Amino acid sequence: MVPWVVMYGGTFDPIHNGHLRSAVELEQWLPLKALHLVPCALPPHRAEPGATPEQRLAMLRTAAKGMPSWVIDDRELRRDGPSYSLDTLMALREQYGHDQPLAFMMGWDAFAGLSSWSRWEALFDVAHIIVLDRPGERASLPEVLTQTLAERSWTKPLSSWPTHGGILPLALPSALTISATYIRRQLQTSRSVRYLLPDQVIDYIQQHQLYR
Ligand code: ATP
Repeated sequence: MVPWVVMYGGTFDPIHNGHLRSAVELEQWLPLKALHLVPCALPPHRAEPGATPEQRLAMLRTAAKGMPSWVIDDRELRRDGPSYSLDTLMALREQYGHDQPLAFMMGWDAFAGLSSWSRWEALFDVAHIIVLDRPGERASLPEVLTQTLAERSWTKPLSSWPTHGGILPLALPSALTISATYIRRQLQTSRSVRYLLPDQVIDYIQQHQLYR
């Protein structure tokens, strides 16, 4: 089977073991040419204290050390204006060529909100979507997404899938309930976040006094 290129986008504020373990298991499940971890730009004034784009990027780099197929991809942070995943996927399509199977990986919660994104249906002209089960996150889907999921969850073997257009729902065996919101809340109340994210990322958070 031709190895896939997968984009995993998010705020990663901060990156945690829920993200990291999903990425490792994906790699054990699917031959991967590259996994692009793409932090998105965020509005400067957020309701909760968050890290700067440079700090989110530094934590990603720290967490991804020793993973040769992972690419920490800062193109959305370098771009002016809002982050559009479609633009990033189109850039990856351009970079890897038209014969390359390409996928956009997201958790169930993100998928449940997909139909509110601008030009969301065009994502399928460029990439597949991998939807990760997230324990405890079973937001119901709008009708249009229920229909899209039914139409695009192909049952044929992955090796015969084209380069884009399908949906691959994945329930990974060690799915974790961890969320960045939970981690930020723990830190705001001076509680321990040990074992929710890599020790090196915890050290970085402490050194830079983040999420207080
Ligand atoms: P927040 O709590 O701030 O919303 P988050 O933990 O959901 O953050 P994001 O950076 O927003 O993390 O997520 C990036 C992507 O990773 C999204 O598609 C999200 O659904 C997915 N994701 C986050 N946590 C998990 C997890 N524990 N298991 C599987 N997917 C996850």
